[in-house]
Amino acid sequence: MSSSKIAIIGAGMAGITAARTLTAAGYPVQVFEKSRGSGGRLASKRSDMGRVNLGAQSFSAHEHEFTLQVQNWLHSDWLEPSVSQPHEWKGSPYMSALTRNLLGNITTHFACEIRSLSHDDNGWSLHDQHQQIHGPFEQLVVAIPAPQAQALLRDCAPDLAEHAAQVQMQPVWMVALGFKEPLAHAFEQTPNDNKVLAHIIETPQDADHPMQTWMLRASDAWSEQHLEDDKEQVLLALRDALSALYPAQLPEHDSAFAHRWRYGLGALSHPVGHLTDVPRGLYIAGDWCSTGDVYGAWRSGQQAAQQIIEQAAH
Ligand SMILES: Cc1cc2nc3c(=O)[nH]c(=O)nc-3n(C[C@H](O)[C@H](O)[C@H](O)COP(=O)(O)OP(=O)(O)OC[C@H]3O[C@@H](n4cnc5c(N)ncnc54)[C@H](O)[C@@H]3O)c2cc1C
Repeated sequence: MSSSKIAIIGAGMAGITAARTLTAAGYPVQVFEKSRGSGGRLASKRSDMGRVNLGAQSFSAHEHEFTLQVQNWLHSDWLEPSVSQPHEWKGSPYMSALTRNLLGNITTHFACEIRSLSHDDNGWSLHDQHQQIHGPFEQLVVAIPAPQAQALLRDCAPDLAEHAAQVQMQPVWMVALGFKEPLAHAFEQTPNDNKVLAHIIETPQDADHPMQTWMLRASDAWSEQHLEDDKEQVLLALRDALSALYPAQLPEHDSAFAHRWRYGLGALSHPVGHLTDVPRGLYIAGDWCSTGDVYGAWRSGQQAAQQIIEQAAH
């Protein structure tokens, strides 16, 4: 039996926002996250280049409420404005510093993948990869990408799973190249008419980054065509594409890796904010329910939590 009555699956921006909103309102929660760290698509990876952001490199805030929230986070030292674009923000010194600090000391079970769910009169039970059962919980927030939500909800909430099934998620290949000796020339951040590369983001050498790092994001079409390629093949292909943009011979890199996001980006064509089965205490959140970005994830997590708080007040 668990002492908290609310479980949240997923420690990305949506799950963390739901957890923070509920905790602030006095509802203890337990978060279940299959990775060893928080952040989801805002995760960073430790490497000999320093910490490298694996997914979103920054995010924008235009909407009033989110802008206020970002201003509030700015009082900490784990968020900073992006140097390249106005209204863009990034975790400092890396993205997962933001999510890790937002999660704070909220009870989180890391490396805990929820494989199935069951519901009875006592509430929701969560079954993990070690056949351990967590719960029962009165309320459950599922804040994971649409295809994973679909699989988890298929048997216990087929109507909600159908919504998730409508979302086609775009895969994204990312490659990081590190150079101990910084390159003599820079690149356009968004190279025009490039079939392979969509974005080239530089992280300069500094105290946190012993190498100058170039994060290469493959184009949507290329990522889709090469979804099942080996990491080594992808690394070489993206390096070659970068090399073609370099005015001299591109020096050998000192460190590199490739990362595939099978479920990178995507959202319902008609955003709903979040999905619910109120009588059974089931709430579905995530970027895909909303605008398919960091703002959407934040908004969706917040809306789901607010509805739980409102229901509890009745
Ligand atoms: C390459 C790339 C670039 C991007 N660029 C931008 C950008 O410039 N601006 C922007 O606003 N957005 C960008 N995004 C999108 C943004 O990162 C996402 O919209 C947002 O981070 C999604 O948050 P989320 O909480 O909805 O989902 P996620 O971040 O995916 O979090 C879901 C979490 O659930 C966990 N999980 C999944 N299944 C289970 C399970 N069964 N049990 C337990 N845990 C589970 C996952 O490990 C993950 O931590 C980008 C994304 C990618 C991949």
